[in-house]
Parts: sequence; structure tokens; C-alpha cells
Amino acid sequence: MPQRMQNFISFGQNTPERRDAEDRRRDFDEIYRRFDQGAASEQASRCSQCGVPFCQIHCPLHNNIPDWLKLTAEGRLEEAYEIAAATNNMPEICGRICPQDRLCEGNCVIEKGFDSVTIGSVESYITDTAWEQGWVRPPEPETDRDQSVGIVGGGPAGLAAAEELRKRGYRVDVYDRHDRMGGLLIYGIPNFKLDKELVTRRTEMLAAGGITFHTDFEIGRDAGLNDLRARHDAMLIATGVYKGRALAVPGAGLDNIVPALDYLIASNRKGLGDTVPDYESGKLNAAGKKVVVIGGGDTAMDCVRTAVRQGAESVKCLYRRDRANMPGSAREVARAEEEGVDFVWLSAPEAFLGDGAVSAVRTVRMHLSVADATGRQTPQVIADSHQNIDADLVILALGFDPEDVPTLFGEPELGVTRWGTLKVSYRDMMTNIDGVFAAGDIVRGASLVVWAIRDGRDAAAHMHRYLLERAEAPADLAEAS
Ligand code: FAD
Ligand code: SF4
Ligand code: SF4
Repeated sequence: MPQRMQNFISFGQNTPERRDAEDRRRDFDEIYRRFDQGAASEQASRCSQCGVPFCQIHCPLHNNIPDWLKLTAEGRLEEAYEIAAATNNMPEICGRICPQDRLCEGNCVIEKGFDSVTIGSVESYITDTAWEQGWVRPPEPETDRDQSVGIVGGGPAGLAAAEELRKRGYRVDVYDRHDRMGGLLIYGIPNFKLDKELVTRRTEMLAAGGITFHTDFEIGRDAGLNDLRARHDAMLIATGVYKGRALAVPGAGLDNIVPALDYLIASNRKGLGDTVPDYESGKLNAAGKKVVVIGGGDTAMDCVRTAVRQGAESVKCLYRRDRANMPGSAREVARAEEEGVDFVWLSAPEAFLGDGAVSAVRTVRMHLSVADATGRQTPQVIADSHQNIDADLVILALGFDPEDVPTLFGEPELGVTRWGTLKVSYRDMMTNIDGVFAAGDIVRGASLVVWAIRDGRDAAAHMHRYLLERAEAPADLAEAS
């Protein structure tokens, strides 16, 4: 039933029903069920339609949240979807995996004393409905242009840019070294957070709109950047960051100490029905094992929760700071605890013990001392506080750095920052090589899907302008400015 707005007094905050933790441990299905029309309408109607909507300001895509909440409350879902899709190429995906507590919902100022509007769940509901109703359509350019764009990397940044450039009429080719498009949406983020089918249907829709995908195509192996520049009028590099940080402690070279992404990729591939030798052999499979995951970010949370589902005997997460200072989303930590993960706060690995393969992690207790220049308290070792934790699989989730892109791409002139990320102009997102743009994690460092989408969209707008200038079409140029 259609609702009036400002209903936050009548209706409390409600999220879609969460599956029981014991049930969740048995499979990789998504953990939240969906809102129905009544619940979505009720929850949307809690919005007080702020004159200055802080939710929108703090959404990296500046989604027009108050408008689509109002339309949802009124039952006008097709219009709500059009507004949601106008600023976001993957609203159903962001609605599921954005850390809303740090973005839109965390900044909802509904009224003092009332819980925020559940923006992400409404966004997913609108877009899931749009897919069911056939309102989600492939990109349809008004005119086809002669110029062609090459995009390296089919993650959210590359896919968002591809869709925006195709809508503007360009021929678009996306190259990816994996056998499926989607980047970390497919191979990093586990299915219980994001059903892979949602990603696949998006890439199929883009292909139906005329975008050409080249899978199993690795720049650096199958072609150099220069080869692709000769084929295309402009290029976008959106290759993400993949080099897992290592731990320089004694015993780090023992068997069964594995990088987080190797472990998650194997699990995701298995879920997609692939044959994964390292999973079958047990190397990247937690079944029956005592698992220790080292790290406190969202990747660590994905690893611990994957290990639970694979049937680990025990799962511990070691983090050198405390719960309040954890970089991972508080919501994900709570879900992991419900599923049986044991968090060992204020604890750091000092050495790995074992004969050939790891059998224990030697840890030391930490305390938090004064804040450093970034405002975070620095962890410091407590003397004589050692403890050994049994482990027969250790997963390192300590963050990611970029690979050496200039060398890999055979383009030593390509400019990088001191962190190894690609250096782009803040004006137009172009690298120091004419016509080569960059977006997503390879520019920002490890970040979020919603920022990758934002970057992909921004890069597409800059590339459009660049290509119009090259096509010498003054009328179009005026239209793009
Ligand atoms: P990617 O998604 O990494 O895509 C890059 C693509 O480039 C890949 O497909 C790769 O195969 C391809 N590529 C790389 N090198 C080459 C080459 N030489 N030739 C051809 N192709 C190449 N963010 C959230 O917002 N919410 C979450 O819940 C969340 N969970 C995460 C969980 C994990 C385990 C990880 C690792 C990250 C998570 N993130 C999450 C972060 C998010 O996934 C990334 O910020 C986002 O995917 C970055 O998008 P991208 O397009 O820049 O790069
Ligand atoms: Fe919130 Fe993310 Fe949706 Fe923006 S894209 S409204 S931050 S869930
Ligand atoms: Fe509605 Fe909250 Fe956004 Fe205000 S901040 S417009 S109440 S969702």
C-alpha cells in the first residue's frame, strides 16, 4: 500500500530477514532474504526527505536517494528504478555490498534518536524488481560512432566505463585475463554476500548492447599496451590491485600459509562449478582444518566466513588492534561472530611454527598506545605475552598492493605514484601517455566497488570529451561540455 513520507515514528528500522546462522554455515547462498513490496514501501516511507540529504552527499555516486525512496513508498517502482539507474550502473550490487554504515546510511540524519533509513536494501529491492519486470535494458546508443575504445580489466570500474561509453556510441572492447568478466565481483567477493548470477546477468546485458568481451586475454602476455593502443582510439586501464602483502616473520615460507585472494578465488571458482586442483588437493580448502586468518579488513571477514562454510574445525581471526579500531565493517564482524568465528583481538603473529607445513602461529599480545599522524592508535607489543595458536591453514589477509604495471604492460614510461598506483591527472584521469586513462583500484589503491563504479563513469565522461576533440566535431563537443 502506498505510504506517505516521514513515517519514521510509525515504523521502526527494519532490514530484510537474515537467515539463521546455523543454516548459513551450510551453504554459500546469500544470507539476506528480500524485502517484499509492503516492507520496502514502509521502510522507504521512513525518510524525512531532508532539504540537504546527507545520505546523498556521502554516497560516492551521489545517488538521488530521497527521490527514489519517495517513489518506492508510493509504489512507483519503475520510476524509482530509472532514478536509481541514472547514477549507478549496478544498484542491486551496491545495495548488497556497499558498507552502508560508513556511507549513505551512516550519514542519514532522519531525526535524533531514530535509526537510519535502510537505503541499501531498498536500492536492491528496486533493482531486483526492475530485472524481474524487464526494465533493465542493454545500453542503446542514439548514434554509432567510428571511434573505438579498449578497456583493460572487466571489474566494476571497467564495466561501468564500458556501459557509459557504449551509451555514447563508441565501439567498446573489454580485455580481461580471467575467463569471466566481473573482476573481484566474481572472484573476490564470496557468493554469500553477492550471488554470482547477479554479476553474470549484468555482463550478458552489456554484451547484448554491443560491448565485445575478450576473456583469457592478459595484457603483458597476449599483447602489450602499445599493441592495443594501435587498435583503439583511447584506452582505459582498470586492472585493480592484486599483490597480497606478505609477512616477514620466521616460518613464513612454511606450507599451508596462503594469500587470501588465492584462497577466495579457489572457493569462488569451485562455487561456479570449475575444477580447482588446489581445492580438491586440500591446499586451498579449509574442510576439517584449524584455520587462522590474519588481518582485520573485509577480505579477512570474507575468508573466515568462507572457511566456516567449507567445514573448518575451528576458525580464528587474529587482529593486532581491537574491535573498535578494525578497518572491516562492524556489520560483517557481527555476522562472522554469529557464524562461529572466534576473534583474537590485540594479537599479532610473531612466527609460524611447523615442520614443512605450518602447525601453529606464535602470537604476541598488543596494547594500543597514542594515536599516530593518521589519528589511529599505534599497536605496541606487550613483553612476555606469547601464546601459540594451533593452525593447519593460515590465510594472510593483510591488504593489497599494485603489481608493477609499467613493466607488465611493456610500457616503462607509464607514470606511477610512490605506492605503485597509476598516476593520473586530476583534471581528466589521463595517465602521462596520451589517450591512456586509468580508473578504479589501480589508481586509488584497494577501495570499494562503489568508488570503482564512480571512477569508471567519470573516466568515461573524460574519454568521451577526448574522443570528440579527436573527431573534430565541434557541435558534439559543445554538447559534451
Ligand atoms: P577489479 O575488480 O580488481 O577488476 C580488475 C580486473 O582487471 C580483473 O578482472 C583482473 O582480472 C583484470 N586484470 C588485471 N590485470 C590484467 C591484465 N594484465 N590483463 C587483463 N586483465 C587484467 N568492496 C565493496 O564495496 N564491498 C565489499 O563487500 C567488498 N568486498 C571485497 C572482498 C574482497 C575479498 C576483496 C579483495 C575486495 C572487496 N571489495 C569490496 C573491494 C572491491 O572488490 C574493489 O574495490 C573493486 O572490485 C575494484 O574494482 P576495479 O574494477 O578497480 O578492479
Ligand atoms: Fe548507499 Fe552504496 Fe547505494 Fe550509494 S551506492 S546509496 S553508498 S548503498
Ligand atoms: Fe532520507 Fe535519511 Fe537521506 Fe534524510 S538523510 S533524505 S532521512 S535517507
